Amino acid sequence: MTTTPTRQRPLSDAAFETAKTLLPGGVNSPVRAFKSVGGGTPLFLQKAKGATITDIDGHDYLDYVLSWGPAILGHAHPQVVEAVRETALNGLSFGCPTVLENLLAKAVIDRFPAMETVRFVSSGTEAVMSAIRLARAFTGRKKLIKFEGCYHGHADSLLVKAGSGVATLGIPDSAGISPLVAQETLTAPFNDLEAVMALFEAYGDDIAGVLIEPVAGNMGCVLPMNGFLQGLREMCNAYGSLLIFDEVMTGFRVHSGGVQTLYNIAPDITTLGKIIGGGMPVGAYGGRADIMANVAPQGTMYQAGTLSGNPLGMAAGLKTLQLLEAPNTYETLDANAKKLVAGMAGLCEQFKLPHSTQQVGAMFSLFFVEAPVHNFADVCKTDRAFFNQFFWGMLNRGIYLAPSPFEASFTSVCHQQAEIDATLNAMEDTLRSVVI
Ligand SMILES: *Cc1c(COP(=O)(O)O)cnc(C)c1O
Repeated sequence: MTTTPTRQRPLSDAAFETAKTLLPGGVNSPVRAFKSVGGGTPLFLQKAKGATITDIDGHDYLDYVLSWGPAILGHAHPQVVEAVRETALNGLSFGCPTVLENLLAKAVIDRFPAMETVRFVSSGTEAVMSAIRLARAFTGRKKLIKFEGCYHGHADSLLVKAGSGVATLGIPDSAGISPLVAQETLTAPFNDLEAVMALFEAYGDDIAGVLIEPVAGNMGCVLPMNGFLQGLREMCNAYGSLLIFDEVMTGFRVHSGGVQTLYNIAPDITTLGKIIGGGMPVGAYGGRADIMANVAPQGTMYQAGTLSGNPLGMAAGLKTLQLLEAPNTYETLDANAKKLVAGMAGLCEQFKLPHSTQQVGAMFSLFFVEAPVHNFADVCKTDRAFFNQFFWGMLNRGIYLAPSPFEASFTSVCHQQAEIDATLNAMEDTLRSVVI
């Protein structure tokens, strides 16, 4: 047994104490607070470059969170930073159309053929919230099906997960949500076509849409089983409901054209966020032109935003998408992630740890569970106490994994052989210290 090094972070500790007097819980988004790994001082960052982040105490960490997804080129890519700088010199926000919006819209539509037109917003939450309003406007129906363990931002009707049972009516997951709103959200287990079929049989003519993370990322990375997404497509066709792919996380991450291109399934509406803004706050929703024609001012579904299509966000997103076009980007991302995950699985075997890995392109999860993971219930079997020890062991050795067993980890083009080796060495050392 080796002992775990502890990184002293006095400046971070002090900053967190101050933050807690000013911000609820000391943070502006809950998962940053490390509550799922037993609390403690979160990382307070000073700067980031490539695959490395630096905290205000001067410690470096190899980053597998990447701003929760956007930084697929690594942090502070010089050409993205320069695009933002140049754009900023001409003004930060106009509230008038700019040519940059056309350019980013064209770049998105070229990569996502099922998006015939697109509307830019300022976050993933806004994108999904608007997409479901659009589905209701287009179909004239009220209900929505979502999947247990999938996160779609914090809009009221989406903060609902399943209770037990197939046709469970929505129960809000957060205080402050009207049960009347939550009731319109039906839930099914991920990868369970029969449960979805049962919901369609019960409520089919009132189901506006089926909303899904086509590769789930917000319960850890969970892949769709063979035929699952195709089955949803067919049921939606049969019942006249819209299929909505929430690719806020997976868009430009698993493939330049998202999960829908990788699996060759065309949704009716797609939502994007994270990478599309290259680190700036941008989201988007788009889809079939006849559906999108309902969005104001072309149609009667109202949705607006003072900072929507903001020039800095458009410039950062456009440059990011252009740089991702370099030859073999996604092949290399996938190959490197596979090497890392295979190395992690190998170490788990060496230390006789129950484990299951999932990976697609530049996203992956290592679950400490006995059996393969296909849905949220499987994920919940993870050994949380062990995950905590593993997380802190890695952090203290300079590896920042997602601070929750229910989050996917990400790689960037800067995560290459040297970074993989460093990560696996830290993991071996961590397991030596925590596995008895
Ligand atoms: C992150 C995320 C959202 C919410 O995006 P925000 O920009 O945080 O509002 C929605 N859906 C999915 C799948 C996400 O991963």
